[in-house]
Amino acid sequence: MRRNRRTKLIATLGPASEDLAIVRQLFQAGVDVFRINMSHSSHAVLAQRVQQIRAIEAEFNRPIGILADLQGPKLRVGTFAAPPVMLEKGQRFVLDSDPAPGDATRVHLPHPEILAALRPGHRVLIDDGKLLFVVREADPERVEIEVEVAGAISNKKGVSLPDTLLPSSALTDKDRSDLVAALEAGVDWIALSFVQRPDDVAEVRKIARGRALVMSKLEKPQAIERLDEIMELSDALMVARGDLGVEMPLEVVPGLQKRITRMARKLGKPVVIATQMLESMIQSPTPTRAEVSDVATAVFEGADAVMLSAESAAGKYPITAVETMSRIAEAVERDPNYTVLLAGQRTAPEPTGADAIAAAARSVAETLDLRAIVAWTASGATALRIARERPYPPILTLTTSHHTARRLALVWGVHAVVGEDPRDVDDMARLGAQVAREQEFANPGQRVILVAGVPFGTPGATNMLRIAFVGAGDRPPG
Ligand code: PGA
Ligand code: MN
Repeated sequence: MRRNRRTKLIATLGPASEDLAIVRQLFQAGVDVFRINMSHSSHAVLAQRVQQIRAIEAEFNRPIGILADLQGPKLRVGTFAAPPVMLEKGQRFVLDSDPAPGDATRVHLPHPEILAALRPGHRVLIDDGKLLFVVREADPERVEIEVEVAGAISNKKGVSLPDTLLPSSALTDKDRSDLVAALEAGVDWIALSFVQRPDDVAEVRKIARGRALVMSKLEKPQAIERLDEIMELSDALMVARGDLGVEMPLEVVPGLQKRITRMARKLGKPVVIATQMLESMIQSPTPTRAEVSDVATAVFEGADAVMLSAESAAGKYPITAVETMSRIAEAVERDPNYTVLLAGQRTAPEPTGADAIAAAARSVAETLDLRAIVAWTASGATALRIARERPYPPILTLTTSHHTARRLALVWGVHAVVGEDPRDVDDMARLGAQVAREQEFANPGQRVILVAGVPFGTPGATNMLRIAFVGAGDRPPG
């Protein structure tokens, strides 16, 4: 079973996709990686989701990626005695440390360290940025804010602080316990929300100890300021446009999306474009033309993956949303401009054996119009370096590790297959051709290019290229 696109598709699971049958249909419709949002999932639900996905993986004999998304320090106000409360422009309002229900003059902010970090002049946004305040007087117990953009405020609305460097790490106590549960459940990727500093990423890496890879969600201006260092420490990136568009002016988000996508490609790290991609499909079976164009832009730019949030988690048309997104990606990838645009973003290989071989493999495969680049990869690093080239032929990666195959489900153009390492170079040619045929990448008489590190099983030793014919006999009995 192979997909007809290079761009990968992530779908968030939720109430709209509770049954195993729906998860199966989502996979069949095109999902490569499932996202479990820990803001809304108990540890029991997480374990059950992982079980469902692994069952489908076994049923279709295809590796599927699982991404556990940690909530991070999402700040919320307390509750009100009689919500909602209307606030007028110019009026003063207070955030304080008193847990008593709020009214038109004040409300509890149950994060003492945040009250202490606010300073006069800092902006406070509430309810996804619908209300805007400016801090006038700051005291660790009581912060007085003035209404700039008026509106209604009610219980537990989210608070964004674009000007305030939060003193806490990105990991809350809940995140720590969710992280341990996710690692124990055997997820492949951990996404970290509201990353502010490189240390936030380092902290998750330290706990994960290689059991899962770490994706940084870029949604804070503080992260944008230290993008280089954060990207360096992360295994993958997410352009988390929902919160990014609250914390920063909306109109700078598209430029940042482009910048982050290009930087990630240059580093050879997967990048995900997320949030509101087909938002209207929560309610409607067809998206707006603007949404179609948004998905297309991410694909044209060469993003590794596009993501559905509420569309698949809580919408009325989860399967249709996946089918629609998949069709858009396929159509863009057939557009003659796609290849030209991807080539335009290509940067020179780094001076390593793996990069030199990856660049050569692309060049040979494109020159000879070969059916696939077949690469052996232990850790997945070779696959990432080939994907960085964004070659025209598909990348078929062979690995002995289920972990590697599942992680690679996120990566542009990679179709991963789990199998044994070849015994020697001739066995490699035979096996590569056989898998290419089995997986429907090549027919007898067609050719593929093989990439490997000899001796086999030594990570970081990519040193070999070979063109192989697919013969009539390259099919296992049965
Ligand atoms: P969220 O992250 O859905 O967890 O908020 C994505 C975003 O903010 O865009
Ligand atoms: Mn977010």
